[in-house]
Amino acid sequence: MANTAAGTPKRKRTTSRTDDIENANESSSSLSDCPSDLSVDSRPSKQLKKAPKKAPKKEEKPKCPICEKELSLSFYKSWGSKAVHKLQKQSEMHAAHEKSDFEKEAVANKYPAVDVNWDKLQKRAAKHMAYLKELTNGKHESPFRKAMKSRKKKDIQYTPGYYGPRGARVLMEQILRVLQDDILAAGQTDRAIAAGGITAFAQCVLVPELGIRLIMEDMKVDSEEAAKIMKATIKMGERLNEDEDDLLEDEEEGEGWLAV
Ligand SMILES: [Zn+2]
Repeated sequence: MANTAAGTPKRKRTTSRTDDIENANESSSSLSDCPSDLSVDSRPSKQLKKAPKKAPKKEEKPKCPICEKELSLSFYKSWGSKAVHKLQKQSEMHAAHEKSDFEKEAVANKYPAVDVNWDKLQKRAAKHMAYLKELTNGKHESPFRKAMKSRKKKDIQYTPGYYGPRGARVLMEQILRVLQDDILAAGQTDRAIAAGGITAFAQCVLVPELGIRLIMEDMKVDSEEAAKIMKATIKMGERLNEDEDDLLEDEEEGEGWLAV
């Protein structure tokens, strides 16, 4: 992931700042016993403002320090009392509770996001290649194609909802294997493909279109509803179906799209 390299020094900085604040807290608590006229001048007010949230008292429900979601006491305790002061631990704890929350959400909504049968997914995807070929040749409208054409990044969807980045890679590989020549041919007349490239077209148009088809089957809904589900479950997919191969590395920059 792109964040990892930049994350290390930040973590160090935060830890040392936390130590400073802890020291500041210690000195402020001793100051609080002083007469008020004395403490006005000597109190390190700026540092006090930065003071981190204290570890929750027993009667309060603990909150995730990253997203502030309430956590069960047993879950919170399982991370140890020092978790609240270490950024890396905070991130890990946040990821763990998010994963568990998304698993529950998936079960509640009957989204087949956990334990995806990836071999079967390939076979299912194969049945939709004819449709995607027609779509590539302009026989079907696609909101994702429009988004790519307009280059409105906010409308571009990079992963097929709850299938996550891993699903995106599986579908992407299959699409490129089967339809590469068709996309290349379509690029002769389609400015968006010519400008963005085969990979971008597969990733930003055909993968989400295929994702919609698969979600329609999974959830027995129409394409409109499937599109809504796909959009609503992007984060769920990122947590539950991560992928080591980071195909989407260029997402933030919007660069690196292959030229035809
Ligand atoms: Zn959280």
